[in-house]
Amino acid sequence: MINSNITIALKNHMIKYEIRKVSIFKLSSLKYEINSIKNVIIENRQVCLEIVCPLCGQNHKYEYSIQEVLNSKLIVGGCKEIYIPLFYIGDQEKVLEKVKLFNSTNNKVYALL
Ligand SMILES: [Zn+2]
Repeated sequence: MINSNITIALKNHMIKYEIRKVSIFKLSSLKYEINSIKNVIIENRQVCLEIVCPLCGQNHKYEYSIQEVLNSKLIVGGCKEIYIPLFYIGDQEKVLEKVKLFNSTNNKVYALL
């Protein structure tokens, strides 16, 4: 039995990371919970993520093999217009590290305002 659980952190339309731990085969259920996910299709051992980008407003598609996702410590998906990270998928520890970094940088920005 392989462990199919992954951690995903994805920016929602408030530009805040939503973090979920989920089986890769149940990723599509997240489209009801996270407003920037348009669709998730799993087919032919591929995962296709369709994101309504909260950064530029366009739809972006990302495709990975299931094997690749399960084996990666960290996958970074970025906005295809402005190249800013949009989501992280992988190891819980690595994903949380990135989100923490983002949150602390953002809090510093707010502190300056
Ligand atoms: Zn974008």
